[in-house]
Order: sequence, then structure tokens, then C-alpha cells
Amino acid sequence: MSRYVLDEEYLPKKWYNIIPDLPEKIPPPLNPATKEPIKPHELEPVFPKSLIRQEMSEERWIRIPEEVLEIYRLYRPTPLIRAERLEKALKTPAKIFYKYEGVSPPGSHKPNTAIAQAYYNMKEGVEMLTTETGAGQWGSALAFATNLFGLKCRVYMVKASYEQKPYRRVLMETWKAEVIPSPSKLTESGRRILEKDPNCPGSLGIAISEAVETAVKSENTKYSLGSVLNHVLLHQTIVGLEVKKQLELLDLKPDYLIGCVGGGSNYAGFSYPFVKDAEKEGIELIAVEPRACPTLTSGEYRYDFGDTAGLTPLLMMYTLGHDFIPPPIHAGGLRYHGMAPSLCILVKNGIMKPVALGQLEVFEAGVLFSRAEGIVPAPESAHAVKVAIDKALEAKRAGEEKIIVFNLSGHGYFDLKAYEEYLKGTLPDT
Ligand SMILES: *Cc1c(COP(=O)(O)O)cnc(C)c1O
Repeated sequence: MSRYVLDEEYLPKKWYNIIPDLPEKIPPPLNPATKEPIKPHELEPVFPKSLIRQEMSEERWIRIPEEVLEIYRLYRPTPLIRAERLEKALKTPAKIFYKYEGVSPPGSHKPNTAIAQAYYNMKEGVEMLTTETGAGQWGSALAFATNLFGLKCRVYMVKASYEQKPYRRVLMETWKAEVIPSPSKLTESGRRILEKDPNCPGSLGIAISEAVETAVKSENTKYSLGSVLNHVLLHQTIVGLEVKKQLELLDLKPDYLIGCVGGGSNYAGFSYPFVKDAEKEGIELIAVEPRACPTLTSGEYRYDFGDTAGLTPLLMMYTLGHDFIPPPIHAGGLRYHGMAPSLCILVKNGIMKPVALGQLEVFEAGVLFSRAEGIVPAPESAHAVKVAIDKALEAKRAGEEKIIVFNLSGHGYFDLKAYEEYLKGTLPDT
């Protein structure tokens, strides 16, 4: 047997907040206008009070509401799977395991926070959530969650993706979300851009501006973000808490914990429950990013805006600059100029090690994995696959039986166009 599925009784009942266990304090987020530390009430036009409290919380454990657990049970606990066929293909003595978040209805880890965010907004009487989406992973997770809690959802989708990638849009619409190609005429930020360039293909930065503006200007409407912020990473720790339990039941200690990083949420969720004991237990933590958007390996550690327009609070993080536009690689979820502040602290203190990879080697690993294990990984997740394979080959050369665990953050069945290019040999490297 190689699928380790937890009984429902093991579904974690609390999220783990790493903030009190960080080696140094995160410098406070700053108000973009005054450059003073932001006060909780200044965030209230955008987020509900309960999520602002979680964002600033110093409590180590935060109870998961029963209504959230009930929806988690649709797909959680997720399996930890031993990649025995991949091990055989590589002829490695290492044991490779992956946590598979692709079993969620939208196909990634993202609903772990979307469900929680929709719930807290619903509890505070919010009627509509707005957000932005690039290729549609986050938009579809939020559409899935808001529909279950009876909230409306408006997703500003980068126009280029809206036109080129219809299937995630259809998924969002199936879950009753309103999907608007961005830039749009519905907001001032959108109109201003369209006046200058009626054919503007849009960008995540523009879509964020439209979603935030709509939330601030509409009744009972808030905005929702799918990565980077403390409360998002907090909700994702359900992933790592399950992995910890699964490895305990197998009586195994990991040598490597590997995951891909865009804004940092899936890897934080997967690895944070192990961080406190990582050094003592000799666990190597590896965060994998694309060479086309090398935030951790080449960015500067400084205050920067979360969006392109400079409307969001300033966060202390590794950044490539908020006006950095990464090349259009297929791992759309990893094309972000910044990174979650808590994860940056761990990298800065040498607790987590960042690695950057080129696009071709990533797809090569993704295809090798799918030919051995069946699942076609999301291009984002294939970054983690590649490093897991490299570590398994290293273990083979050294003749060591290492335990390699990685997070397979989502499946790639909406990304087959990218695989088609790879198979045809037309996929550009970075
Ligand atoms: C969005 C996404 C990512 C990147 O976001 P993080 O916040 O860094 O996790 C990674 N994998 C998948 C499948 C995604 O959808």
C-alpha cells in the first residue's frame, strides 16, 4: 500500500500560527500613504475584523470553526502518497512521498484558505467578495468557497487569460461567480487604463486595484487575497499538520521537505509545522521558485507594495520590485514579485533554503513524474517535483536511504496547453 489516507478523526482542529516561533519579529506592515505602521482599523474597509485579528495574532494555535471543518471534509484529510514507481524509475534507495492537494474540487491547496475566508466574511454579514485572478486557480477556489457559504463573488480576471484560458472561467461561473475581464469599465482604475490603451491585456496588479476598489466602494463587500498574508498561510497549515501526523503514523522522519513558492502559501502551510524542530531533527527545508521570477534567490529584502499600482500596505519582504513584470512562464502562480514576510524571515535566517529552476527542466520533471505516478502536476508543483527528483538522484549516488517529502500543490489538468508545447518541443526555456 502506498496511499496513506488519514481517518477523519485526524483532521486537525486547529491551525498553527508560526509568528510566535519566528527567530525575529516581522517588521510591521506600513500604511502606503503615511509610511507609519498600519493600524488594524485601517484594514477594515477591505477585510473582516476576524481575519484582521488573525493577520496580527501572536497566538500559536487557532481553532478551526466547525462549519469550516465540515467543508474541509469534502476533500480532507488529503492523501500522502509514496511515489514507489518514481523511486523505481530513478533506481534510488530514497523513499519519496508527496502530499497531494490536487484532490480538492478546484484542484489545488487554495480552497484551504478560500473556505476559511468565505466563512469569516459570511459570519460578519458580508454579502460579496471580490478578488483578482491570473490563470484562474485562486478565482476558482474562491468561487467554490463563496458558493458553499451563499456569498456572491466577483473575480477580476486578467484579460489575456480570460480570452486564452476559458476553462477555469467556466469553472468559476459554474460555481456562480461573476467573472469580469480586467481592465474593465466597472472601476475607475480600469477606466483610467482603458482610456490610455483600449486593448490593454491586463495584469495581476491592475486586477488587484479593480478588486480592492470595488470592495471599498460597495456595500457589504470585502476583498480576499489568496497568498502572502499571515492569515492565508495560517489556514494552509492544515496541510503540514496532516503530513506530520501521516509521517508519525508511518514512523518516519523526513530528511527533505520541498515545495514551490509563488507568494509562499502552499509551502508555508506544508512546512511550518516542522520548522521549530527542523534543525534539531536534521530536516532540510527547500523552497523552489522559477528562474524567471527569482524573488528569494535574487530579490532584495526591503519594504515594497503588494501590487503594481502601489495601493496595498508596504510589506517587509524579498522583492523584485512591485513594477517587475516576469516573463510569461506557464507556472502563472509563481509569477509574483514579492513573498510572504514570515517565509522571508526564515530564508534570511538560513532556516529555509531557496532554489531557482528553469522552465524546461521543470516540465521534464513533471512529465517524468506523470509517466511514473499518473498524476500530471500543475506547472507550479512541478518545480517541487524537480527538486525531489534531484535529491533522490543525489541519494542514489551517495547510496543513502533518504526520506524525501514534497507538496504536490495541485494538478495540471487545466494547464495541458503548456504540456502540449513541451511535448511538441516548442516550450521556451528561461
Ligand atoms: C497558486 C498556486 C501556487 C503558488 O502560490 P503559493 O501561495 O506560493 O502557494 C502553487 N501551486 C499551485 C497549484 C497554485 O495554484
